[in-house]
Amino acid sequence: MTTKPGKPLPHLTPTGTCWCGCAKKVGAGSFFAPGHDKVAEAALLAAEYGSSVAQLLHAHGYGPGHSVSARAVAEGVWRKCPSCAYVGAPASIANHTKRGHAPAPTEQV
Ligand SMILES: [Zn+2]
Ligand SMILES: [Zn+2]
Repeated sequence: MTTKPGKPLPHLTPTGTCWCGCAKKVGAGSFFAPGHDKVAEAALLAAEYGSSVAQLLHAHGYGPGHSVSARAVAEGVWRKCPSCAYVGAPASIANHTKRGHAPAPTEQV
């Protein structure tokens, strides 16, 4: 699943082999063999940021004083729940509002 970011990103074209680097053949239009996008994401995090999302956020200038989720909303790729502080991708918001608004102590994306 991809969302359209607010800033321009280079146009990437699937090459027919998995972009995680495993050299598996994948179908036209796919970058990854099933699940390998998550593997690549975890490997990147491990290799570049010590598997720490805090390090990842810090490297991009985000942190407790600069909310990355607020940025996502500002960029228009995420939405804020009209009834509470929950933010997420439009599909997550749809799920979230379907569940109603009993105050939950931890709302996860
Ligand atoms: Zn792969
Ligand atoms: Zn809500």
